[in-house]
Amino acid sequence: MPSYEDLEAKITDTGECTVCGACITACPGSHIKFIENKPKRPKRTMDCVGCSTCYEACYILRHDLIKNIEGRTIGWGKKESIGLYRRIVVARTKDTEVKKACQDGGIVTTLLLYALDSGAIDGALVVGRDGWAPLACIAKTRDEIVLSAGSKYGVVPMVKELRAAVVDHGLSKICVVGSPCHIQSIRYLKHKGLPLASAVKLTIGLFCRENYEYACLAKEVTQKGLDIRRVDKLDVSNEFNIYAGGKKLSLPITEVKSCVPRHCLVCQDFAAELADIAIGSMGSAEGWSTVIIRTEEGERIFSGMEEKGLIETKDIGDIVDVKEIAGRKKEKGKQTKEIFKLKEAGLEKKEIAAKLGITVERVSHRLDGI
Ligand SMILES: Cc1cc2nc3c(=O)[nH]c(=O)nc-3n(C[C@H](O)[C@H](O)[C@H](O)COP(=O)(O)OP(=O)(O)OC[C@H]3O[C@@H](n4cnc5c(N)ncnc54)[C@H](O)[C@@H]3O)c2cc1C
Ligand code: SF4
Ligand code: SF4
Ligand code: SF4
Repeated sequence: MPSYEDLEAKITDTGECTVCGACITACPGSHIKFIENKPKRPKRTMDCVGCSTCYEACYILRHDLIKNIEGRTIGWGKKESIGLYRRIVVARTKDTEVKKACQDGGIVTTLLLYALDSGAIDGALVVGRDGWAPLACIAKTRDEIVLSAGSKYGVVPMVKELRAAVVDHGLSKICVVGSPCHIQSIRYLKHKGLPLASAVKLTIGLFCRENYEYACLAKEVTQKGLDIRRVDKLDVSNEFNIYAGGKKLSLPITEVKSCVPRHCLVCQDFAAELADIAIGSMGSAEGWSTVIIRTEEGERIFSGMEEKGLIETKDIGDIVDVKEIAGRKKEKGKQTKEIFKLKEAGLEKKEIAAKLGITVERVSHRLDGI
């Protein structure tokens, strides 16, 4: 039977781990903790019963199942680079409090508030912050939901809060908001039949090109003479933007590239393809959100919010730029995975380049994360 040690050897110590937090939540004895940016069982204790639940909870080991999970939850049709969907709209909130706190169109926060008010959910797993360091949190009230608005950059094991949400807070209708990797993890836990995961009734995914290690990011920001704790907002477009004291400082993406964790370099999901609803800024004007509604449940909640007059929406023809970036992420992720594999097999950069028909410079960029 596979053990915690196998999880460590195959996933957490190899850089494959996306730090979703599922193994932490799955361990019935809470032996796995989030330590130095990784899930870790502090030391072998007599309490760890070697049950293999943590190993079984890791979706990375079962990527072969993702297609099947998508078929059962979203559908089986011919897929585009952004995944399968029912409807795409551009939207923004009408809620003035949310407008002040949100990242883009405030649709994630407004959806959570509507879902809570209408009884569709009784709480949500969200990402709050300590300074700008992201924190996995449970939100059960309007105030807690609004407080979690805005994007934080940094790996965050948000699925780890599922056990506390169900066991300590007694929640049974949970919405999980997360990056595409968090959503894949939750869908996998539901598919595996982990009892805790049956409490998840709705998933909202965020578009995601890449993420950054928070400590590395804070260092880059500090080197620019800014105190990250005094920053008002961070966002990523074609540049990494820092808003502080009414001013905007834009860094070329290459300056933060070294902060991108290994697992993001091989990731192929931009548009949260397994979420009920996926939301991002790309494809919309400033202050608006692009919303991809994928499932019947997603449609029901989104339409309910629309009918209540909580948001403004506009139809959008074709989101060519979003499709293009999603397609490029797939290609890049696949190629980088190959590069890592060949490197691990002992090939030199030149040999890898020749084998894949690409330049040595590109191989260097992918391996060195620049
Ligand atoms: C790491 C990261 C990378 C992103 N990359 C892109 C991109 O390349 N292109 C693009 O169009 N959009 C990207 N987004 C999404 C974008 O920044 C907004 O989150 C999205 O447009 C929703 O805006 P909103 O105003 O509706 O959200 P809000 O109403 O402000 O709500 C934001 C929600 O995001 C959650 N959240 C915040 N930080 C995190 C985190 N680190 N992990 C998981 N959940 C989090 C909060 O819990 C909150 O509920 C990214 C987001 C993150 C966190
Ligand atoms: S008790 Fe089971 S789930 Fe927890 S760490 Fe040990 S093997 Fe993993
Ligand atoms: S379940 Fe998530 S956090 Fe745990 S090892 Fe797998 S990817 Fe990492
Ligand atoms: S790039 Fe992929 S692995 Fe990295 S945070 Fe985004 S969805 Fe997760």
